[in-house]
Amino acid sequence: MSDSPRDYYALLGVRRDATGEEIKRAYRKLARELHPDVNPDAGAQERFKQVTAAYEVLSDPEKRRIVDLGGDPLSTAAGAPGSSGNPFAGFGGFGDVFEAFFGGGATSRGPRPRRRQGADALLQVDLTLAEAAFGVRKDITVETAVLCSTCSGSGCAPGTSPRTCPICGGTGEVQSVQRSFLGQVMTSRPCSACGGTGQQIPSPCPTCGAEGRVRTRRTVTVDVPAGIEDGMRIRLTGQGEVGPGGGPAGDLYIEVAEQTHDTFIREGSNLHCTIVLPMTAAALGTDLVLTTLDGEEKLDIRAGTQNGAVLTLRGRGVPRLRSNSRGDLLVHVEVRTPTRLDEAQEKLLRELAALRQEEVGVNGSRSGLFSKVRDAFGGR
Ligand code: ZN
Repeated sequence: MSDSPRDYYALLGVRRDATGEEIKRAYRKLARELHPDVNPDAGAQERFKQVTAAYEVLSDPEKRRIVDLGGDPLSTAAGAPGSSGNPFAGFGGFGDVFEAFFGGGATSRGPRPRRRQGADALLQVDLTLAEAAFGVRKDITVETAVLCSTCSGSGCAPGTSPRTCPICGGTGEVQSVQRSFLGQVMTSRPCSACGGTGQQIPSPCPTCGAEGRVRTRRTVTVDVPAGIEDGMRIRLTGQGEVGPGGGPAGDLYIEVAEQTHDTFIREGSNLHCTIVLPMTAAALGTDLVLTTLDGEEKLDIRAGTQNGAVLTLRGRGVPRLRSNSRGDLLVHVEVRTPTRLDEAQEKLLRELAALRQEEVGVNGSRSGLFSKVRDAFGGR
């Protein structure tokens, strides 16, 4: 069911440009008339829910902005499974708003279920670059709460069952009368004797101590997809913590930590590495063998290769996640100038310099060199 955005301003009976103080005053006035402890009428209870939702939205600047832009901040939050018909069905937080507003207990909502949804769990897995690149199947040891097999989650010793809490009579709440600006108000709080569940377990399960779940280690097998990156998470639905009372398990998230590689630096689906060449090899050209993720690859260094040159090996990078394509491997060339020349080497280099008319400090060549420098800096 998709209904047009609710008019929260109309629900509270305020203008669209109402101040925060006016909104608060309007809600306070309506709450005084409609609060279920004051007005037992069923219609009033529904109206109270709605005006409380409206107050919750309009008192929050972020949510109010969404409303002013024509949206409905509760329509996404109200996506509770199976909720339809009542536009406020998914709005569960009105007790909290009411408490924050009036500082008292919320309205009666019945006992809390003993069996509750379990939490998600997060685990880190270390992968090598090759594992992240090509994917891997890994066995991982996980320690989470699982269903107690002795009591199947009930928390009761075998052959026994829960009994109604004698303090709250099974309602999960204890009532008290308070004086407030609303007049005499009946407030209710969760029963501390049964934790609000309305039930007590007379003989707790010896295995789990009435928790309905126990912690164990187990091994899960994870299929890591090719192309996954550092920091990404893989979700294993229903493999997280089993909830209290044997409630449904949360999800297990496996976070990838990619180890640094000795040779390659990863940048998305591209890989980078640096090779160091002696000046002579860069000048004369040479063949090199580079060990890539795919094995040995011949690199053809052409004569006259400059420092900072980049050789691109297409498709030798990392596969892209959920795709058949791959990134590139970029080989950065660093040309090393020879140092600690012995006499013979220095002589040869001087001869070479003379042949190429690149001598420095010799008459006739200085101007040539400096003019090149000037050119390089774009001298006008
Ligand atoms: Zn048990």
